[in-house]
Amino acid sequence: MAKYAIVVIDMLKDFVYGALKCERAQRIIPNIKRLLEEARKKGIPIIYANDAHVPEVDHEFKLWGPHAIKGTDGATVIDELKPQPKDFIIEKRRYSGFYETGLDMLLRELGVDTVVLTGLHTNICVKHTASDAFNRGYNIIVLEDCVETFTDEDHEWGLKYMKRIYGAKIMKLEEFLKQI
Ligand code: ZN
Repeated sequence: MAKYAIVVIDMLKDFVYGALKCERAQRIIPNIKRLLEEARKKGIPIIYANDAHVPEVDHEFKLWGPHAIKGTDGATVIDELKPQPKDFIIEKRRYSGFYETGLDMLLRELGVDTVVLTGLHTNICVKHTASDAFNRGYNIIVLEDCVETFTDEDHEWGLKYMKRIYGAKIMKLEEFLKQI
């Protein structure tokens, strides 16, 4: 039996409603909400991997402009998916949830072998987190109706890439819920 952790990437106010608003993020909110409810019932750990950028200096701003600055409202998880006391929060400053964060150590301590990736954006932070999960030997599941990005084309590209290059299993939420 696989030992899962649900990883919720960048479902932050700035990405859903603010500085880097992505309209399509709306579609996945009810799905992630349902996933988190079911995961909590089953005792599957939930880890939020959240951008928490250092103002002025972060390298990413050159490409994207200021967003999700540590300590601001924009860098908090949207109310609909509010973390609960037993959930874990990892702060990141780059696309990947693993880069210079404690995510790998946390997953190992939890005995996780399979990461279930959700959130934003399919072809950016989800893709880079999948890459680092692959490098560290984790199995990867990407729930296609729980990840989104700015366009259909980028979304499909991201899914296809993660499947082909990292061996990620691409599944729908309902299909995943049947196996937990
Ligand atoms: Zn960022």
